Amino acid sequence: MKLFNTLTRRKEEFEPITPPNVGLYCCGPTVYNYAHIGNLRTYLFEDFLRRALEFNGYVVKHVMNVTDVGHLTSDADEGEDKMRKGAEREKKTVWQIAAFYEKAFFEDMVHLNLLHPTTTCKATDHIAEMIAQIKKLEENGYTYISKDNVYYDTTQFEHYGELAQLDKQELKAGARIEVDPNKKNPHDFVLWFVKSKFGGQDMQWESPWGRGFPGWHIECSAMSSKYLGDQFDIHCGGIDHIPVHHTNEIAQAEGATGQHPWVKYWMHGNFLVLKDKEKMAKSGENFLTLNALIAKGYGALDYRYFCLQSHYRKELMFSWEGMDAAKTGLRRLKEKVLALGEKEGEINRQYLSQFNSAVADDLNMPQALAVVWALMDDPRIKDADKLATVQEFDRVLGLKLTEPPGFKIPPEVAKLIVERDAARENKDWNKSDELRNKIESLGFKVKDLPDSQAGGTTVEPK
Ligand code: AMP
Ligand code: ZN
Repeated sequence: MKLFNTLTRRKEEFEPITPPNVGLYCCGPTVYNYAHIGNLRTYLFEDFLRRALEFNGYVVKHVMNVTDVGHLTSDADEGEDKMRKGAEREKKTVWQIAAFYEKAFFEDMVHLNLLHPTTTCKATDHIAEMIAQIKKLEENGYTYISKDNVYYDTTQFEHYGELAQLDKQELKAGARIEVDPNKKNPHDFVLWFVKSKFGGQDMQWESPWGRGFPGWHIECSAMSSKYLGDQFDIHCGGIDHIPVHHTNEIAQAEGATGQHPWVKYWMHGNFLVLKDKEKMAKSGENFLTLNALIAKGYGALDYRYFCLQSHYRKELMFSWEGMDAAKTGLRRLKEKVLALGEKEGEINRQYLSQFNSAVADDLNMPQALAVVWALMDDPRIKDADKLATVQEFDRVLGLKLTEPPGFKIPPEVAKLIVERDAARENKDWNKSDELRNKIESLGFKVKDLPDSQAGGTTVEPK
């Protein structure tokens, strides 16, 4: 497979460190509000990536964090505490806010048919790991204390800014960065807050530097090291993470272990934008959720189809006309698949190879979709073979093409699936069986992915 690596700005042949295993880390949601469909576009891209890797025979360990502490409204250390803002808005505690929106996010994942990660990890469950990494950085000479907070001194890390290609001049001048007078250098960032400008934080922990809470970036480098080791294959996120969050994650991970490069391939999904090119943001007013699409009569998989039609590295403009076209496209495709009957056939090798060349070419999903349509409209191929082939393709597309048009997972079933995925991730097999029975009693058949794929409950009508 060829994948575009942000580190080198080139498409590169994908060679994992220890094939066939692939370590994949995806920055997860900040759970202070619903995910918007822009965020979900990024998770869809990551799902296509994981499915494409598995389709090509790799065994993927997919780790995703849940940010439930410490992320400010700006990716740098300025702005308000997002979790606290959510709590004030809804007159709840930050812990209640985190628990509620985490569940809501996983329910969105179920509706979009996103594979449950092999490991999900909450920041607040990994404070000890973060403290340990900050201690390592302190031992290695990368930190300083200013006004009681612990900062990362970016001038001590020789590779600082390579991912974002920040040049040295810019690093010095700190262009565009609001300067915190307590920092020695404009790009320095907080590892551990003891003195917060907000005061009265609910989420606080003891640390060698005093009672406080972690900076945002440290959670991803600490948790990815814990679950994927000191070096791993692929790290993903949206393009907004390149200049600050991922740049700082690299400085932390490599500063702590001395290993370079920490991650072999960095992949970033481009933004979903609105008509006037405005970016969709959780903190802005232009905020569309998956539930808002569903309330307007679209299926979650219509949005999946909408995203499949554009390449992940291109900006994608959202429009209702585009959603209508996607809805029609998916319905027509499903009708064609349904009309193929149920006879068992053989996978057509020629189409399979065309499909996989598209997928393996840096996830060219629009091209892969064109291959699907060409297959469906090819009079030379027997219906049974078309069916077998399209079912194979659907392992990557995840469109549930063999479910009848209009197939939807009801909200109460989605809730049970989220609980069951968590039980399976924790290897709590009794609970997982109990939840399977509950789901089946609501009229659905449960299909499990292999154990190596953790969670992974999928359902179909009985
Ligand atoms: P957050 O929950 O804010 O941490 O963001 C979750 C993911 O969504 C991150 O990978 C972001 O880079 C990504 N993201 C944020 N806004 C957009 C957008 N408008 N389009 C696509 N991805 C986005
Ligand atoms: Zn992250």
